[in-house]
Amino acid sequence: MTPGRHRRTTERLLVPLLVLGLSLGSAAIAQAGPGQAGPDQAGGGPAADATVVDSTGQPGRTVALTFDDGPDPRNTPRLLDLLGEHHVQAVFCLWGQHVRENPELVRRIVSEGHVLCNHTMRHENMSTWSPADIRANLRATNEVIHEAAPGAEIRYFRAPYGAWGGTPGVAADMGMQPLGWSLSVADWNRPGTDVLVRRLMDGISQGGVVLLHDGGGDRSQTVEAVSRVIPRLRDEGWRFTLPARSG
Ligand SMILES: [Zn+2]
Repeated sequence: MTPGRHRRTTERLLVPLLVLGLSLGSAAIAQAGPGQAGPDQAGGGPAADATVVDSTGQPGRTVALTFDDGPDPRNTPRLLDLLGEHHVQAVFCLWGQHVRENPELVRRIVSEGHVLCNHTMRHENMSTWSPADIRANLRATNEVIHEAAPGAEIRYFRAPYGAWGGTPGVAADMGMQPLGWSLSVADWNRPGTDVLVRRLMDGISQGGVVLLHDGGGDRSQTVEAVSRVIPRLRDEGWRFTLPARSG
């Protein structure tokens, strides 16, 4: 092996190790931060566990519905109408930018008993961000949510694209439970309501967390699919609940 090739090989090995070391170090720093309530706190009580939760944590036929990328003036009101009709509580993972544009919808989500989730300011991919940059974005997002709905609890955080990077430790330290999912039906592709209904009915598992979207475009198929799936699941003995909090 020539020295040049050897060096390249070494670099190939060292760079991932370095990145791994940095990210582990970052997570440790984020989790070692102060846990007491402060301006960062999301109103979710004490620091949450950094585990990414993807289940209800309850036995039997329980399922949690979560809706990302809103609030949206076209889809969210219709979705809220139908959730209210069926007495189903859900989680809404909000973009800060969309909260600014539709603050009255955040107040409606909260007043109708649903639960909030921070989904960043503008749907940023934070997989390579430093803990300080992550914290600044999540804090700004919580601030605009609280401007819209003062005192509202922001119980969860969900990383856009599931690109978690160092976000779970920071979110947990701010009192938000990192929230994953067990079923995604790619509703953003708008495959047709029948396809969405079939994917949901086939894919739902006991204790599952379902990822759907009420923002980011026309989500009328999602809303229609949810309106058909809720009564069918109820008939089959399913109960709608919230995702677990591990902390
Ligand atoms: Zn999203």
